[in-house]
Amino acid sequence: MPITTEEASKIKEQLLTQLDNFPEEKRSQITEQINSMTGEQVEAFVKQNNLTHLGGQCIFCSIVANKTPSYKIAEDKNYIAILELNPLSKGHSLIIPKEHLEKVPESADALTQEIARKLKNKFNPEDVKINELKIMDHALLEVVPIYGNETERHQASEEELKSLQEEILKAQEIKMPEKPQEVKTEEIPILPPRIP
Ligand SMILES: [Zn+2]
Repeated sequence: MPITTEEASKIKEQLLTQLDNFPEEKRSQITEQINSMTGEQVEAFVKQNNLTHLGGQCIFCSIVANKTPSYKIAEDKNYIAILELNPLSKGHSLIIPKEHLEKVPESADALTQEIARKLKNKFNPEDVKINELKIMDHALLEVVPIYGNETERHQASEEELKSLQEEILKAQEIKMPEKPQEVKTEEIPILPPRIP
């Protein structure tokens, strides 16, 4: 979906507010470059740099509204779970509150734990870490399986994400049966009969 002229100029405005981050002698050149971008170029630039929020929309709100495509792996009333596009490890997922909030409510726990369990059962990591993040002021949780060989994030390919999504969606949640409590009978030492 191409962006409108209005959106393009909004994004340009946003980009121009970032000029302070550049050395002074470069600013006029950058300003010129930004201003001369066509709508298509702005769109390509935004996509390339993951700056989709610059249109004034929060990327996560946009994902929740299905306006930005994502790899959804679960959903409940108040949250969605999607795959991270730049994962640190296989199965790295995000739990996003449908509301744009400052803090993730505790009710996110159910879906978060469900995803963590699924990832554990499916991919057998050493551990699964859960962190709270705030990106573009939208609080969310990340669920990161730890295999012990994580080094850095990589940009996941579409194929990789698609097959991972299928695998996770297919994975039945295996509920481990409660382990029956072993009844330990303390051995009572038998005292030798006392001979008075
Ligand atoms: Zn948001």
